[in-house]
Amino acid sequence: MSAHEHTKTDGLPALGADTAAAPQVLGRARPRNERMASDKIECNACPVLCQISRGKAGACDRYANEDGVLVRVDPVLLLRRNLERGDGALVPFAAANPLPADEVFVTGVGASTTYPDYKPAPFIVASEVGGVDMVTVVTEGIFSYCSLKVKIDTDRWLGPEQANVRCQGEVVGHVTTAEYGSQMLSLGGVHHLTGGSKKEGRVTMEMMQALGNQQAVELTIDGGTRVQVQAGRAPVVDGVEEQRMRVGCGSATIGIFAKQFWGAADEVVVVDDHITGVLTEHQAGRCLDMRPSGLKIRGRKSTPGRYFQVANPGTGWGGTDLVDPMAIVEGWDAEHAWPGQRLLMTSTTGEHAAYFVLDEKLVPQPAEMPAALRSVVERIGENCEPSLCSVLFIGGAGGSLRAGVTENPVRLTQAIKKALVNVTCGGAPANLWPGGGITLMVDVLRMPAHSFGTVPTPAIVAPIEFSMKLSDYRALGGHMAPVRPLAEVLAKGAGHDDGAPKSLSWAPSPNPWPLGRPPLLG
Ligand code: SF4
Repeated sequence: MSAHEHTKTDGLPALGADTAAAPQVLGRARPRNERMASDKIECNACPVLCQISRGKAGACDRYANEDGVLVRVDPVLLLRRNLERGDGALVPFAAANPLPADEVFVTGVGASTTYPDYKPAPFIVASEVGGVDMVTVVTEGIFSYCSLKVKIDTDRWLGPEQANVRCQGEVVGHVTTAEYGSQMLSLGGVHHLTGGSKKEGRVTMEMMQALGNQQAVELTIDGGTRVQVQAGRAPVVDGVEEQRMRVGCGSATIGIFAKQFWGAADEVVVVDDHITGVLTEHQAGRCLDMRPSGLKIRGRKSTPGRYFQVANPGTGWGGTDLVDPMAIVEGWDAEHAWPGQRLLMTSTTGEHAAYFVLDEKLVPQPAEMPAALRSVVERIGENCEPSLCSVLFIGGAGGSLRAGVTENPVRLTQAIKKALVNVTCGGAPANLWPGGGITLMVDVLRMPAHSFGTVPTPAIVAPIEFSMKLSDYRALGGHMAPVRPLAEVLAKGAGHDDGAPKSLSWAPSPNPWPLGRPPLLG
């Protein structure tokens, strides 16, 4: 556990000032342990109830004892948009005084909270936008029920579906259904956080925090590969950085490029772990009136020119284990084939390609690929997108977190279903799953960096904001007494008995403005 040095601030920091070390002063509860040393204070922000010595931080490093006062170590993050430029670029703080309410948004990053929520949210901010009275309830949610869905743009087979995914040897998730051009992992979740050993829970939590904070994590997949994942970066599979996300499956690639292949090759096979395409047999080739080549390939024929299971999955050609593409060729039907037939074999990314010409005995002989065909292969590569990892955070906000918003929690859920509430995470738009509860999903790359924290219960800490009309907030049983105007929040913080200022820091917002999205102001 590390000690933290802090400097109190008496007001707002200048824009761009490094406020990372400035504390927020929080109210204290009477300690449970009456025998606690007098220089310690008890943090009651989560059930761990750390007893924190003077000059030290609690187990999560989010709260500290500064001169006998419990402080939230990180500053509250504010978003600021530049209306003139129409983007989230930073503007000088002094240039807008007083601050227009529709240019500043208080996020849950660094906002503090209690877990479970037994107090109103730390910030309940009133503002006027477009002549409408609005309110934003701002808190740090503590999520025991949460996971990450990771999309890895690659054809390469990472491991069997349902296989365990490990981090530091601990099971932290599993391989889930592959999507178009991407392998998918489901990581974290309540079972790994709480249902396994203490170490499994801790490693899962740390893995989720790191990925949520846009950092790199190395994972291994049982019976599969080792993969390094980082949001917004290319995956690294078994030490090799992935470059291309395929243009389509083998059949789609045939369809897209059939006209360009025509005349340059007599037969084209696009090798794919899922659907391998064979041009002359494929509907695209038939539409071009191409002569059947007589090529016979392994695998299970699905429909004309579309073959499943031509090889085992792997990290070779088209997500198969193929090193030599001719391994899937069974031969040629002598009735249809002819000497001199030109065959192109390529993968779905164009990274692998080979050219053959049949000799007099209908045996394929490797040959130099003609320039016209080479340019089509290069175009396949050109049409591939950069391979990236995407990380979506899924959190269940339908539990006690709602009590920080309203005395009647189901009303919040109902208001969200009616689209009366805009839910954001660090200002980033959250997608809400249909059905019961409040299950939200957000792209971590749209959230401010370092939005995620942890508590050793174990659980993930993530910012969350609920924005709505003030009249709707009142109607759903919102906590009206702690509602504070934005200007007051900016001047001295809000919601704490001592009224002490909270430290603030600023960031631009790349997202739709949380208070301006319909139907809020529609
Ligand atoms: S883990 Fe953090 S939030 Fe929980 S009691 Fe300790 S310092 Fe407070």
